Amino acid sequence: MTATCGEPVHKRRLIRAGGLLDAAGTEVAPGVVLVESDRVAAAGTPESIGSVPDAEIVDRTGELLVPGLVNAHCHLDLSGPGPWPPAGGDYRGWVGRVRSLRAEASEAQVRRAVRRGIALSLAGGTSCIGDIAGEPPAASIEELRRSPLQGTAFVECFGIGSGQPSSIERMLGQLSGCPADEAGVRVGVSPHAPYSCGPDVFAAAASTGRQLSTHLAETKGEADLLLLGSGPLREMLEKDIGVWNEGVRIPWGTETGMPRAASPVARVVAAMSGTGALCAHMNYLGHDDVDCCVAAGIRLVYCPRASASFGHAPPAVDPHPWLALREAGLTVCLGTDSLLCLDTPERISVLDDMRLLYRRDGVDPMILLEMATIAGADALEIPRAAVSLGPSVAGLVAVRSSATTPVGMLANALAHDGPPSWAVQPTSL
Ligand SMILES: [Zn+2]
Repeated sequence: MTATCGEPVHKRRLIRAGGLLDAAGTEVAPGVVLVESDRVAAAGTPESIGSVPDAEIVDRTGELLVPGLVNAHCHLDLSGPGPWPPAGGDYRGWVGRVRSLRAEASEAQVRRAVRRGIALSLAGGTSCIGDIAGEPPAASIEELRRSPLQGTAFVECFGIGSGQPSSIERMLGQLSGCPADEAGVRVGVSPHAPYSCGPDVFAAAASTGRQLSTHLAETKGEADLLLLGSGPLREMLEKDIGVWNEGVRIPWGTETGMPRAASPVARVVAAMSGTGALCAHMNYLGHDDVDCCVAAGIRLVYCPRASASFGHAPPAVDPHPWLALREAGLTVCLGTDSLLCLDTPERISVLDDMRLLYRRDGVDPMILLEMATIAGADALEIPRAAVSLGPSVAGLVAVRSSATTPVGMLANALAHDGPPSWAVQPTSL
């Protein structure tokens, strides 16, 4: 639409909300947001904003507005089929099904799955994402760059023992094939996990200077593999995938001079020390692992629903150590993992992981909002302003609530299952 003088007309909207809340200190009820040219121009109490001539009035008085959410660990390329039934303890069988899914997918199907994952993420109020790019990574990265989502796409690599040099060569080739930072999406590296990547692959990934992401201490069997070279993961690598070879050194990291007594987690985080690597899951930590994680400066992406779907949750096992890590000063944020292990076919959203932690463990709603916004932004090295109420916020999410105070409204929204909606859509950078 243009005015008669030819200048574009930027429609202004005044959103009257039940409340406004972020993890940076905004806590207002009722609240008003002035939107100009699809961006937040001002937010605050009705008195502080006042009346705005010509603005369209939008009534969201039964809703709480919060910044768009950060999903710091996802696999958008696995969004083709809907959620699968929970795998429980059958991790090996689940990995086999994922490998079949990926082996049968054409590039067109991968792109369709990524686009579906983006749509489901937006339906879940996600504005920022850490995505493990599927094969071919350039396809996932391109689709993400065409979307309003910002964040990091991680090129994934696999290689143990004598398979490491070719894995490193392939990873470096893939990195050189696409721009490192474009359209709000950076390209990072993900050595898949220490049981599927040897220390040379981790070292090469760290030396690229890119953001790193890995899966760590996801299953109990990982410790047996890394320390003894035995257990269900050895069987999977040897019999199912056929990659186990005589070049694998046990315990993991022996060739890098790692002390024999070091725990499996200590060995892996030492290989990523100082990189700010995102470590997904960390369901099983040893007694001294909190200190070594803090010393290495890694960041935890806790995926509560994914952990629960594989049986890594009470009462089957001890409570997850995320709170001890957070209290020790580690950045702890939230992720969903793939749609395959979620219970929400209609969206991919850490909102539902917040709901699980609020209902199951009674976690403070403000801690959950902090994990789902500014901690996620810190982990992905996105400015906090992108997830704080203000002119740089990457979208505002509305959740229905019957409470009256901002924190009460958030608690009420976490206690119920309603879908989020966008009060202000994220826009492409
Ligand atoms: Zn994952």
